[in-house]
Amino acid sequence: MNFHATLMRHAASTDNPTVLALAGVLASAFERDGVHVLPIRGLDVQQTQWLLARWFPGAEAALAPAWAAVSVQASQQLSEHVSQCGSRYDEVEDLVTLFADHVDPRAGTREEATCVAHALACACLGANHLWQDLRLPSRRELSALLGYWYPRLAAKNVHDMKWKKFFYKQLCEREGLFVCKAPSCGVCTDYAHCFGTE
Ligand code: SF4
Repeated sequence: MNFHATLMRHAASTDNPTVLALAGVLASAFERDGVHVLPIRGLDVQQTQWLLARWFPGAEAALAPAWAAVSVQASQQLSEHVSQCGSRYDEVEDLVTLFADHVDPRAGTREEATCVAHALACACLGANHLWQDLRLPSRRELSALLGYWYPRLAAKNVHDMKWKKFFYKQLCEREGLFVCKAPSCGVCTDYAHCFGTE
C-alpha cells in the first residue's frame, strides 16, 4: 500500500503544512515498521486514531485490515511496540516538552497540539533536514508550521539556524549543557553544520 498517497487522499487539507507534516511522519513510520507499530511514539492507540480522524478522516478505514488487527495488541504491549524513536524516547520527551512550553494556545486544541508536538519530535530523530524528514516540499512550509504553532520559539531563531540544530541547542541551554565546540558560533568549526542551506 502507498501509505502517503492513502493518507493524502483523506487529508483534511492538501496544502496545510501541519497536515502535510503529519502525513509525512505517519507514512514514513508505516513504510518503515508496517502498521504493527504505533507510528508516533508517545501517542497511544486512541490518540493515534483521534489524529487520523481529525486530519485524515476515513484513512483509518482505508488502513483497517492491518491497523484494526494491531490496535488491541499495540495497546496491550505498548512498551514493546514502538516506532524507531522508541530507543531515544528521552529525546522525544525533551523535545515534546520544549514544544509544549512554547505552543500558542490559539493555534489549536490541546489534543491537536499534543499530536503535532509528538510528530515533530519523532521526525527530529531522522537523518535528514527536518523539512525532509517531514516530507514537506521545502523548508518554507516547516518555518510556517513552526511559526504557527510555536511563534515564540520560532522567533528565537534569529540567526536562521537549521531547525533541528536550533531545537537541540535550546535543549542544551535549558539543561545548562555546553556541547558546542566554541564559545560563539562565529568562531566555531561546526558553523556549516548548524547554519546555511537546508
Ligand atoms: S556553530 Fe558551533 S557554537 Fe554555534 S551552535 Fe553550532 S556547534 Fe554551537
